Amino acid sequence: MTIIESPRDELSLLRDLCGGAVALPGDDGYDAARSGFNLALDQRPAAVAYPADASEVAEVVRCARRAGLRVAGQSTGHNAGPLGDLSGTVLVKTSGMGGVAIDAAARIARVGAGAIWEDVVDAAAPHGLLALHGSSPTVGVTGYSLGGGMGWLARSHGLQTNSLTAIELVTAEGEFVRTDADHDPELFWALRGGGGNFGIVTALEFRLYEITEIYAGFMIWDWSEAGRVLPVYAKWAADAPDHVTTSFRIMQLPPLPEIPEPIRGRSIVIVDGAVQGDPAVLEPLRALQPEIDTFATMPAPALVRLHQDPEEPMPYVGDTALIDELPEAAIEALLQMAGPKSGSPLAMVELRQLGGALARRAPGHGAVGGIDAQYVLFLCGMALDADMAAFMKHHAERIKAALEPWSGRGAYLNFAEDKVDPSLTHGPATWERLKAVKARLDPDNLIHANHAI
Ligand SMILES: Cc1cc2nc3c(=O)[nH]c(=O)nc-3n(C[C@H](O)[C@H](O)[C@H](O)COP(=O)(O)OP(=O)(O)OC[C@H]3O[C@@H](n4cnc5c(N)ncnc54)[C@H](O)[C@@H]3O)c2cc1C
Repeated sequence: MTIIESPRDELSLLRDLCGGAVALPGDDGYDAARSGFNLALDQRPAAVAYPADASEVAEVVRCARRAGLRVAGQSTGHNAGPLGDLSGTVLVKTSGMGGVAIDAAARIARVGAGAIWEDVVDAAAPHGLLALHGSSPTVGVTGYSLGGGMGWLARSHGLQTNSLTAIELVTAEGEFVRTDADHDPELFWALRGGGGNFGIVTALEFRLYEITEIYAGFMIWDWSEAGRVLPVYAKWAADAPDHVTTSFRIMQLPPLPEIPEPIRGRSIVIVDGAVQGDPAVLEPLRALQPEIDTFATMPAPALVRLHQDPEEPMPYVGDTALIDELPEAAIEALLQMAGPKSGSPLAMVELRQLGGALARRAPGHGAVGGIDAQYVLFLCGMALDADMAAFMKHHAERIKAALEPWSGRGAYLNFAEDKVDPSLTHGPATWERLKAVKARLDPDNLIHANHAI
C-alpha cells in the first residue's frame, strides 16, 4: 500500500499516470508541455498530464483531488491567457485524444477532445460536409465549441456551440458522463457557452452541413483608403443578408518572406468572407475598386485558411470588445486611433460581422444562445518582450476606450485573451443557472477554466 505523506508525494504518483506522459517542473519536457499558442504567456502549472483516453483523464482528476490540486482542460492552448495562476493546477492536455469519425448519413461528426479544426475539415470533405469551424485550422474544436464558435457560416448557421449534439466528459469526481438534450439537459445547456468549467471534456459530437463549394475570398485596399472603405463597409454590413459573413481588418504586415509580395511589409485594409447565395451582394464593396479581389467559387474546405491566421505559436497581446453599432462618429473614432496617421503599432484591428443567425436565440440552444452586438472587435499586437507587450496593451486599451460609447456589455469570451468578468457576458439569469450547475457538478471548484464560473 502506498502511504501518501504530502501533496508532493501525490505529485510524484501523478508521474506514473498516463503511461508516464506527465511533465513536472524540472522535467526535461516541462517547458515544451507548459507552453500554449501565445508565447508571450508563461503558464507554470503544477504538472502537465497527457491522457490518452477518458479513463486516464479520470485517473488524473482523482489523483489531483487527493493531492489538493485543481485540474484544467486544455487542448491546444489557444486561449491560455485567462487561466491565470496555474501553480496549484494540473493541466490536462487532451491533445493526444484526437480522432474524427464522420457519420455521413446522420451528418454528425464525433471528435476526441484533442481534435483541431483542420482534422474535421479533412475528414468531412470527402462526404461533401462542412463544420462550423472558425478562421484557424489549428484552433482546437473543444475550446472553440464550448465557448461559442463563430466562423464563416456564422450569420447563416449561428454559433458552433449550438450545433453540438452530445458532449462526453470526466467530472470533478472522476466520473464519466455523456450529456445531450435527453441526458442531464441542464449540464448539456451549461457546457455550451459555460466552457470548460464542469469537467474535462473527452469527446464531442456535432452537426455538419452539406456544403461542397462556396463563394469566398478577400478584397484588399491600401490603408490610406481606410476612410473611404470603412464607412461603406459598415453601412453595407448593417443591411447585408444572413447568407454572407465577413470580417473587416486594418493590418500592418511585417516584411516577412512568407507574406506574398504585393502586400509584404505594407499596411492594408482587407475585407474577407463567404457568401452562400447571390455573389451580387458584394457589389457595393466591389464598387470601391479594391486593389486585389480574390472572391470566387472555391471548394468549401479552403475556407479554413481563408483568413490566413498564424498557425504556429507566436508572442502577442490580444484584446477584444463587443461593438453594438458603428455610426459615423464611431468610425471616425476608430480611424483616428487605428487608421493611417494614428501611430497605432497594432498588427491587426479587426471587426467581425455579427447579426443574422448569431442574433437569434432558439429553444434547445446552450448558455450562449447568440451574441447581441453588431461586431466583435479584436485587436492584436506582436509582443517580443514585456515592454513591447505593455506598449501594445496600452494602444489596444486606447482603441477600446475610444469606442466605449458604442461598446456592448461583456465580451465574446472566445476572443477574450485576458481575464474578464463572464457574468457580464452571460447576464444575470444565465449566470445564476450556470452557477447552479457548477455548484452541483463541482462544489469544491476543482475544475479550473479559462472563464471561471
Ligand atoms: C489564431 C486564432 C484564431 C481564432 N479564430 C477564431 C474564430 O474564427 N472564431 C472563434 O469563435 N474563435 C476563434 N479563436 C478563439 C478560439 O475559439 C479560442 O481561443 C478557444 O478557446 C480555443 O480553443 P482551444 O481548445 O484551441 O484552446 P485551449 O486554450 O486549449 O482551450 C480553451 C479553454 O477551453 C476549455 N477546454 C479546452 N479543452 C478542454 C477539455 N478537454 N476539457 C475541458 N475544457 C477544455 C478550457 O476552459 C480551456 O481553458 C481564435 C483564436 C486564435 C488564437
